[in-house]
Amino acid sequence: EELDEFNRRIVGRIEVVRSFPEVACPGKSVRRMKAIQGDITRLQVDAIVNAANTSLLGGGGVDGAIHRAAGPELVEECRKFRGCKTGEARLTQGYRLPARWVIHTPGPVWNGGGLHEREKLASCYRNSLRLAMDQGAGSIAFPCISTGVYRYPPDLAAQVAVETCRDFLEETGADLAVTFCCFSKADLELYQKLL
Ligand code: ADP
Repeated sequence: EELDEFNRRIVGRIEVVRSFPEVACPGKSVRRMKAIQGDITRLQVDAIVNAANTSLLGGGGVDGAIHRAAGPELVEECRKFRGCKTGEARLTQGYRLPARWVIHTPGPVWNGGGLHEREKLASCYRNSLRLAMDQGAGSIAFPCISTGVYRYPPDLAAQVAVETCRDFLEETGADLAVTFCCFSKADLELYQKLL
């Protein structure tokens, strides 16, 4: 009888808990995201993302800056991957960078938008976030992937970046602070408007 009474109370409690309405927290994930203007190689975050090419062996733009700042050990570690497909991501150590890890992701080349560029760019953000989360990172910084020599329109790219990161944070509940590190003031303004 005592057990029955105990169970009834527990069940009662469970029902009470269940009857609470879902508490929506609009904007919670947005508060985990911020945009700054600066050089990504200087950031003290757990992981910085490199807008790499599919060879993963270094290039120009932000890729060149990251390899220069990290030192020659970075390209040595990258060799083990034997390249990486567009939209996928690979993690290495940060070597001489203040960041502990570098996540390398080749963005899509813009060809007018009809060749799945949007999905591929979203994959870059999602796969980078997933790697960071699995690694236990608490903070990650992204450059404006594909908006340099790969010619993705910066306003469209910023939309993909913010939406994909917001959805990821909401869906996974990841405890991850996201910084969009813009090189130009124009990019910073795009992100500020969206955030
Ligand atoms: P992609 O080949 O993906 O287009 P780029 O390196 O050409 O890559 O350009 C991507 C973005 O990175 C551009 O917005 C560019 O201005 C920016 N960028 C270049 N150097 C840095 C840096 N040191 N820190 C942050 N962003 C940078």
